[in-house]
Amino acid sequence: MSLIRRIDLRGADQASVDYRTSVPRAEFDVEAATHQVQPIIHAVRTRGVEAIAEFSAQFDGVDSNDIAVPRAAIAEALETLDPAVRAGLEESIRRLRATSEVELEHDVTSEVAPGAVVTHRKVPIDRVGLYVPGGLAPLVSSVVMNVVPAQVAGVRSIALASPPQKNSGGLPEPTILAACALLGVDEVYAVGGAQAIAMFAYGAGPCERVDLVTGPGNIYVAAAKRLLRGVVGIDSEAGPTEIAILADDSADAAFVAADLISQAEHDPMAASVLVTDSLELADAVDAELDKQVFATRHTERISTALGGRQSAIVLVDGMDQGLDVVNAYAAEHLEIHTRDARAHAARIRNAGAIFVGPWAPVSLGDYCAGSNHVLPTAGCACHSSGLSVRAFTRSVHVIDYSQAALAEVADHVVTLAEAEDLPGHGQAVSVRLDSDRSQR
Ligand code: NAD
Repeated sequence: MSLIRRIDLRGADQASVDYRTSVPRAEFDVEAATHQVQPIIHAVRTRGVEAIAEFSAQFDGVDSNDIAVPRAAIAEALETLDPAVRAGLEESIRRLRATSEVELEHDVTSEVAPGAVVTHRKVPIDRVGLYVPGGLAPLVSSVVMNVVPAQVAGVRSIALASPPQKNSGGLPEPTILAACALLGVDEVYAVGGAQAIAMFAYGAGPCERVDLVTGPGNIYVAAAKRLLRGVVGIDSEAGPTEIAILADDSADAAFVAADLISQAEHDPMAASVLVTDSLELADAVDAELDKQVFATRHTERISTALGGRQSAIVLVDGMDQGLDVVNAYAAEHLEIHTRDARAHAARIRNAGAIFVGPWAPVSLGDYCAGSNHVLPTAGCACHSSGLSVRAFTRSVHVIDYSQAALAEVADHVVTLAEAEDLPGHGQAVSVRLDSDRSQR
């Protein structure tokens, strides 16, 4: 029996089948998780650190009220970091910093009429809370992906949270602390899951509230971000990971299977989806999965993810239909393994990140591509972007008009104010252009 099920969309079209729902997502979705997360948020809001300590004991098996990681522990983690891991982190930082610096936006000024000037001033967010997962795997790479764009944007105050670990004396994983030290981040909290997002949103104990929360996490983290959007700024719902692969018969089945496995490895709730018009490739990928899954370290987690309703091999008639399906699915990660990969990539509108051709696997993007791995999931890629410098900056509109410039447009303002039955608005302009006053 195959590890992954098949969905046959051959012969279907968008008029008869809704492609957004024909490739289902996990049953326990963000919406369902919000019911579990709501009481956690309430408890942290009302009881602060005391509630956080209870959740750390319940979910992480750690008994401690000390949520702030001592600076000495952060510095010490860097001293004992494996040099090869340090070299990998430094390369990852270098590449992401290079793309982030290019992306940094500058003030934009327009003179819409003589003396009528509008500037979009780019301002960094003052204080941010960055989440780094540490439940099933210590995602040291997520330190880089969060911190680098925040620093390039010019954020002044950076706090970071990651789950406390039983084997690390209740502190986050040492590699995570070492990456913080490497990047000069010294405000770190040993707090995981929804309670970390609530701590950032409301403040708790030593952690002052932040203006924006970013970072990936499991379904509970994603649900907390959904519930707290508005109380605090949120980058996107970057929940359990997803990979979709669009492939034709030119694809290498071993590469495709390895990449489906690499994302299934993250979480039993991760989604791995192959969309192909080649039955031969589908069969070959099935055979490769059988071979490769049982040779990995996390066979059980991967098998659960591949066997879940959120994962499938989807058969289509050709690449046009395949493109419609992957655009409707709006995957977090989309790989294209087709003869015309670049041309097909250009036709993708909805994806968190697009990996073109056989030499750009998602795991390259997870660490060292120079792109960001914090990406929208659960279909949010049709309206949200991956994390970048832009998430850490705001645009403040600065309006600067001369008296003559206001006079030139005054009649329009008064007319529009009347149309909205808001005469006071019009009066606020007329009073300035009153002839006696304008002489002064
Ligand atoms: P995590 O740090 O996100 O979650 C661990 C925390 O979850 C625990 O500290 C605990 O507080 C909480 N938790 C566990 N069980 C709970 C329960 N029953 N109720 C409430 N809270 C509970 O680490 P993880 O679990 O390893 O998940 C990491 C996730 O991050 C994976 O799903 C991975 O796919 C995802 N990820 C996403 C992206 C992205 O950009 N979309 C990038 C990297 C990783």
